[in-house]
This record gives sequence, structure tokens and C-alpha cells, in this order.
Amino acid sequence: MTDKATILIVDDAPSNIQILAAILKKTFHIKVATNGSDCLKIATTEPKPDLILLDVEMPDMNGYEVCERLMGDEKKPIPIIFVTGRNNDGDEEKGLNLGAVDYITKPISPAIVLARVKTHIELKQQRDAFEVMAMHDQLTGIYNRHYLIEAAQHKIARATRHKQPLSLLMLDIDHFKAVNDTYGHSKGDEVLQEVSQVLKTQNRTEDVVARFGGEEFIILLDQCDSDSAEQKSQYLRKTIEELNPSGIKITISIGIAQLNQTGDSFDDLLKRADLAVYQAKDQGRNCVVVG
Ligand SMILES: [Mg+2]
Repeated sequence: MTDKATILIVDDAPSNIQILAAILKKTFHIKVATNGSDCLKIATTEPKPDLILLDVEMPDMNGYEVCERLMGDEKKPIPIIFVTGRNNDGDEEKGLNLGAVDYITKPISPAIVLARVKTHIELKQQRDAFEVMAMHDQLTGIYNRHYLIEAAQHKIARATRHKQPLSLLMLDIDHFKAVNDTYGHSKGDEVLQEVSQVLKTQNRTEDVVARFGGEEFIILLDQCDSDSAEQKSQYLRKTIEELNPSGIKITISIGIAQLNQTGDSFDDLLKRADLAVYQAKDQGRNCVVVG
């Protein structure tokens, strides 16, 4: 564990919160709430807690309702452990069916609370790490094709709904095979890494910069029409031309496609950008073509 994880303790009885906090505070950051609506507020505000210890019996909104609300809203819900005085199988089953990861009955045993919380925090951290790994390209650290496709679908749907411009840039390193053949694959990898860093740092955080495959990259630009995308592309093209990654002179060809508000799909955009890259290669490379 690098950073201390944060546990949100929710109980209408402050004495119960104190008992749990005393057990956990050496190992974790603690946040507290004494009712369901405060819990929902804290659980949906960044930085979100990593785990919730949730009392079942509370006035107004009980723990089951809180759990249901949290599970319903989130794509990736925060793990919840119920803490309750009820100890029959039906209640435990109900809690687990709602999506809770565990169920602890009062009176609590400090050692068991600590052990279970630690276990579920470790599982969550492994899940988070795996998720980060699954959406990034191993070599360059930027987003991978898998993540790009998912992000593109969301962004295209949103841009179409709000009638906002969106542009896709396809960037291809010119004569990259020659780089590998001349300098070796490890040099080639360094070039890909340096180019990726430039593409990533020269774009806004909301833009998706991904390695699409081999020496091919895709950038999705929100709220950006093809004119702005062309300016941006010219700037990137020039920056790469001057980069000399690992002392090797390289250039890129860029194809641009702007989203048509007439039911364009990611594949449509991709095809137009791909065609534009071909034209850029045809025109002698190291240039930008709007498709
Ligand atoms: Mg209670």
C-alpha cells in the first residue's frame, strides 16, 4: 500500500463510529457520516473513499437503501461492508445481494474488522491497478486501443447529442520500419515512447491520446472542429519534426476527420482519417490532410 486508503464509517450512533475509528485509524484515513444522505454525499465526492463501513439500522434512510443508491449510480461502486446488530442469514443474504462485499455483526471483534477491511482494500487496490493496466499501452504508457474505442463511443454519443464538434487525428510515423531496421527495435521503442510523451503533454487532459497500433496514434479532440484540429496537427507535426528522439530524425503524417452530426460512428471517423493519412503519405509525408 503506497497511499493510505480512506475508509468511510457510517453509523447513526457516534459511539459506534468511535469504536470502529479506533480500530482502523492507525492503518487508514477515516471519514465519518452519521446518516445516509451524508454518506451519499461523501461517497460521491472526489476523492472518494476506498471502502464504506455501513450501519444497517439508521433512521430516515437505512443502510440497505444507501447501498442500493450507491450501487445503482456508479459504474464502479465503492466496496461496502455492512456492520449490523442483526445476525440472521436472511439479513446477511439481503446485504450481499445488494452488492455489499462483506457483512460484520455487532458486537464487533477488532481483529476481525481490521482483517476484513484490509482484505477488501487490498482487493480493491488490485482491481484498480489492473484496470489502469488494462487501459494503457504497456510500452508507451498512453491509452491503448481498447480504451480508445470505449472512450470514443462515449465522446461521439455526447458530441452528437449536444451538436458539438469533435475531431479525430490519426498520426503515423513516417518510414518507421526503416528506424527499426537501421537502429534496432529497442531504439524504435524509444522513439515510440518519446513521441507518445510529446503527444500526451501537448494535448489537453480531456483529449484522449492513444497508441492505435505499431507506429500509429489516435487523438480525439473534444469541442474541436477540423480547422482547429488542423492547426493543432500542424503544431504537432512541427514539434515531432524538431524532436529528434534518441537522436533520430523522424516525421509524422496526420489525417484528420471531423464528426458529421448525421450518425457518424467511430468506424466512419476512423476510415476517413485513415484515408487522409494515405493522402498525406502520397503527398510526400510530413504533412497534414483533412479528410
Ligand atoms: Mg444504527
